[in-house]
Amino acid sequence: MSVAVSTPQPWPGQPDAHQPYPAEPPRAPLPQETAGGTPASLPELLTREYPAGTVRGIPILVHATLPLFFAAQFLCSPHWDAASVLSRLVVGGPVLLGTVLCHELGHAVACRRVGGTAQRILLWPLGGLAYIAHDAGERSDMLVTIAGPATHVPQALVWLVLAAASNEGHGVSHGAYNTFALICLQSMRLNLLLLCFNLFLPAYPLDGGRLLVDALLLRGWRMEPTARAAGWASAVLAAGLACWGVVAGNVLMVFVAAWIGKSALDVINKLKVPGAIAFDPMFGHLPLARRQELAQPDKQQMLGTV
Ligand SMILES: [Zn+2]
Repeated sequence: MSVAVSTPQPWPGQPDAHQPYPAEPPRAPLPQETAGGTPASLPELLTREYPAGTVRGIPILVHATLPLFFAAQFLCSPHWDAASVLSRLVVGGPVLLGTVLCHELGHAVACRRVGGTAQRILLWPLGGLAYIAHDAGERSDMLVTIAGPATHVPQALVWLVLAAASNEGHGVSHGAYNTFALICLQSMRLNLLLLCFNLFLPAYPLDGGRLLVDALLLRGWRMEPTARAAGWASAVLAAGLACWGVVAGNVLMVFVAAWIGKSALDVINKLKVPGAIAFDPMFGHLPLARRQELAQPDKQQMLGTV
């Protein structure tokens, strides 16, 4: 799961309109930011983000609940043969983390290329979050959005080549894979799954939802109908994903659906406040003049009311 977050700025005359809707959730203090000597409570510990290095100057943070998620995922599986355990340890751990990190770095690097900034990348149980910001417009935002899922193509190819090379000369068409080849194939499938899920599911704030927003804006849609379409499409998809997760017993999918559903409800609720949607991160990538233009009532509507 991946999402890019950008921060829209207010335009003159509406200096406080964006205040009720901060683009980023409040960030828990890093360990070095806490006051010394005071033991933190368990809820505080579970909301912390820990630094895990930098890549190209971009801080990488790991959410405190991520190790707990991995442990739960590992222990809750009914399969305990050696190959399954090894697969969960490797593909469900470092491979998954590395894959998601590459995805988010794709967004971050592309954002810098279009003149934006990349503040940090957070790895958490539902995937990754790239905190980026630019105001280069819809077309550039589509490039930034696609750059994340696009990283899965070369990654999948590398895993395919490794699987073919390691399967004792049989390639990947041979059914009896050795353990390393099996892990490579599972890693390739993971990349293809993340590519499709992020790119082709038009649920905001997933990449597919961001592409839907950009596509509607480029077709001349105003902010409010665009947000309404994206919000309701996301709500319906979240409900579908939740049902699928319950039927399939996939707890992670239920959480993902809940996160998408909450984001959809946030958008739908903002539409009830006149003008508030213009300051949603959904439109943070639009230049100021473009946002002012798209926030105005449609010309046909104006003619109809005269
Ligand atoms: Zn993404």
